[in-house]
Amino acid sequence: MANYGIFSLKGKTALVTGGYRGIGRAVAEGLAEAGADIILWDLLDAAEVAKHIAEKFGVRAQAFLCDVTDPEAVERCMAQSAEVTGTLDILFNNAGIGPHKDALEVTPQEWQKVMDVNLNGVFFVATAFARWLTAHGKGGSVINTASMSGLIVNVPQQQASYNASKAGVIHLTKTLAVEWASKGIRVNSISPGYIQTDLIREVRSDWREAWTSMIPFGRMGRPEELCGAVIYLASDAASYTSGCNMVIDGCYTLL
Ligand code: NDP
Repeated sequence: MANYGIFSLKGKTALVTGGYRGIGRAVAEGLAEAGADIILWDLLDAAEVAKHIAEKFGVRAQAFLCDVTDPEAVERCMAQSAEVTGTLDILFNNAGIGPHKDALEVTPQEWQKVMDVNLNGVFFVATAFARWLTAHGKGGSVINTASMSGLIVNVPQQQASYNASKAGVIHLTKTLAVEWASKGIRVNSISPGYIQTDLIREVRSDWREAWTSMIPFGRMGRPEELCGAVIYLASDAASYTSGCNMVIDGCYTLL
């Protein structure tokens, strides 16, 4: 395990939603490398991912099947997750979906689904986590995965529901940061630009080429390039940092 100094997460337990793959899996590995024990939640069984993390980083890791849109399941899984190591300290609130569709063609059910996963799910998990912390007299750190799409309008694809949900995550983050400041619970978000995961890998190639041409870095990001920001926000090094939205986008939103 690397020596992370003030960024060390040794002795802390981190819960990662959407931990089966993509950004969640990569960041879970980063948090484990910084010393944290890991709890993974996903719709898919992430037991193999947990086993890999435990073996590779010498930490405790366990997976739970949990749909973040189901508040009762979230409360139940939170209690079960806390039993694994006896504590919870960090939440990487990351599960999300990102459909592309013209606003005029989106059905009410499709709109609702995006809001359910990306915004309601983030709220259900954050509040269940904070309830557990306050019931146990503890502070903690929440890092929500928002998106640069919560700040700008992406082109050429149409994704009104996604953009609106992520704008909601950014302001929910700020609101909870203020509401929970006196409880010792810090709440921050990261807003990635285009990151090479399954979420965008299957998108039509002409769109992906258009995106890359608009990124000053000349390339999309890799999931592991988000680890440093999340480790920092999770660690005691960020003890005076809350309500911040860290944009990690290869300068996309600066143009
Ligand atoms: P992936 O699709 O690769 O991973 C998302 C994971 O979340 C999947 O394992 C998925 O499970 C899981 N998930 C989806 N719905 C639920 C649910 N209801 N309950 C629990 N788990 C669920 O996506 P990324 O890793 O790319 O995205 C992760 C986050 O990052 C999302 O919030 C996304 O919006 C955000 N983001 C991604 C960007 C990118 O360019 N990739 C850019 C900016 C933000 P399943 O496979 O079963 O659906």
